[in-house]
Amino acid sequence: MSGLNAGAAAGVTGPAANPFAGFRDPALARDLAQTIRAEIPDRQVKIMHVCGSHEHTVQKWSLRSILPENLEIFAGPGCPVCVCPSHEVAEAIELARRGAIIATYGDMMRVPTPYGSLAGAKTAGGDVRLIYGPMDAVGLASDNPGRQVVLFAVGFETTAAPNAALIASGAMPGNLSLLTSHRLTVPAMELLLGIGDIHIDAFIAPGHVSVITGSGEWELFAEAYGMPVAVAGFEPVDFLSAVLGLVRQISRGDARLDNTYGRAVTPEGNRYAQRAMAEAFETVPSWWRGIGRVPRSGQVIREKWGEADARRRFELTRVPERQELPPGCSCHLVMLGKIHPTGCPLFGKKCTPATPYGPCMVSHEGTCQIWSQFGGTGG
Ligand code: SF4
Repeated sequence: MSGLNAGAAAGVTGPAANPFAGFRDPALARDLAQTIRAEIPDRQVKIMHVCGSHEHTVQKWSLRSILPENLEIFAGPGCPVCVCPSHEVAEAIELARRGAIIATYGDMMRVPTPYGSLAGAKTAGGDVRLIYGPMDAVGLASDNPGRQVVLFAVGFETTAAPNAALIASGAMPGNLSLLTSHRLTVPAMELLLGIGDIHIDAFIAPGHVSVITGSGEWELFAEAYGMPVAVAGFEPVDFLSAVLGLVRQISRGDARLDNTYGRAVTPEGNRYAQRAMAEAFETVPSWWRGIGRVPRSGQVIREKWGEADARRRFELTRVPERQELPPGCSCHLVMLGKIHPTGCPLFGKKCTPATPYGPCMVSHEGTCQIWSQFGGTGG
């Protein structure tokens, strides 16, 4: 494993007044972009990241505007709220209808589905509360001992890990259970490689997920698929360092893993979090909204922790899985990296952050929402 180290590139070697200053240095960012221009092959190059936070970085710092025109940076399926399937939202709505307190993150409230939304369930009298972390749900359960509280647990590895630790602690309040909609990122990225009309030259792996999984998780792409891959952080110099390393690999025909976020990501990751996830969850095929069924990508609660599982506790009848999006919505194409949000005819017209029509416009991690937030030009 080798490659650029963004910390060294930024000249940040020790404690500083502003620890991000070097990673946001405009001159260094311009130098990196210039080197990318000089070294990129003379053809279209497509690099995909799978993280709403990376798209936010690209947009906030207008990175596409300083990169060469033949370099396309596309966002893939990096928004857990966007890929949460309608039938799982329907389960949460059903539990609200049955009188449980539904504890959920704000972005999930407005996600439109054919079964309605949690905001609609709340309007109809359901008790749906906003939380910022699993301990808020524990607090709700403690404060409401006579009520059932259900944590609608949506998210990738970064969210799954603390929820797993809560389950595996064996110390959950008796009136608290989890309705899980956790997804693993690597299987979705693998799926993308098998879709014939998507050509991707390299992947940028999400830095925060990698804190949990370790950078080693992504070696698979270099070793099995011959694809350059880089773990990147969330400052502009982090991102551009990753892009430069990937462009160099593409130019030279290399395929290896670069960890350009070494200040946070180790090869082995967070072993405690990994153990908690393995203890609490079983890995199963799962449905991704707009994408379909992805093998080995879901996390459901193991039978030994059945009391913590809202599906078992409430004997929920499984709502049929359907790959449904509102008519005319192109979220599936956005999430597969086939188009940018501006390729959807509804973008900025029928679908805006104030009036979200598709799931990618709801969450602050949704590509359409991020593009809208920064003017809709792609950064
Ligand atoms: Fe879906 Fe709206 Fe994005 Fe179009 S603009 S892809 S309708 S979220």
